[in-house]
Amino acid sequence: MTLAIRNIRVAFGGFQALDGVTLSMAAGDLVGLIGPNGAGKSTLFSVVSGFIAPDSGEVRFGDAPLDGLSPSARARTGLLRTFQVPREFSHLSVRDNLRAAAPGQVGEGLVGLFFRPGEVARQERAVTEKADAIIAFLKLDRVADVPAGRLSGGQKKLLELGRALMVEPRTILLDEPFAGVNPVLIAEIVERIRELNARGIGFLVIEHDLQALTRLVPVLHVMDRGRILASGDPAAVLDDPGVRAAYLGG
Ligand code: ADP
Ligand code: MG
Repeated sequence: MTLAIRNIRVAFGGFQALDGVTLSMAAGDLVGLIGPNGAGKSTLFSVVSGFIAPDSGEVRFGDAPLDGLSPSARARTGLLRTFQVPREFSHLSVRDNLRAAAPGQVGEGLVGLFFRPGEVARQERAVTEKADAIIAFLKLDRVADVPAGRLSGGQKKLLELGRALMVEPRTILLDEPFAGVNPVLIAEIVERIRELNARGIGFLVIEHDLQALTRLVPVLHVMDRGRILASGDPAAVLDDPGVRAAYLGG
């Protein structure tokens, strides 16, 4: 499933946050997106995932144009995003946070509740099993029953990734998965992303921690002031004088 982002423009009031962004990635790619604060990276994720409608431009995932689809409709096509500030339900346990992220089920409607109780119970068991498999994969076993609000910053980032995994993702947009995370847990998250990518899940990763990102991705895009400034091999891109000026001087 190719993700094709074409000529996206978004203005907030008179401020041009995205000024014609074009970027595409093939199914299963592992791609980085960096840029100074305010470059428009998170806004781009919001457009791609359906939280913000662009003023112009289009997003396609596979053969389908996504324009007009809600975030949950996009998620059902396999396109998921995480948030820069994790959005866990702080009073729910880690396991219940994962269960709550499962896509719509038959048991949610009254009809399902009254006429298909066996099916409802079966689906609930399947959702719990999936949540537990993800807990084991992310090594969150010890905090599975802990309210998510009590997790460390890094554990919350893992839970964000876990919530995306509940939805059978094909491509995950990760917004600063390493920000505020200790180095040991960063290495852990990098490893999990690698494993998931080896299983065919594509990633577009926004990051500020250039070290972690350049170790992870073979292709890097640099954004500045609502535009893509440079794209390609991380070492070459970071050597680009325009990128140095924007990113380091920014
Ligand atoms: P980045 O993620 O690259 O740091 P953002 O996409 O969060 O940048 O923001 C890009 C610019 O758009 C910033 O100047 C930010 O203040 C502005 N911005 C983002 N969201 C909104 C919004 N909802 N309303 C007004 N301005 C916004
Ligand atoms: Mg951001």
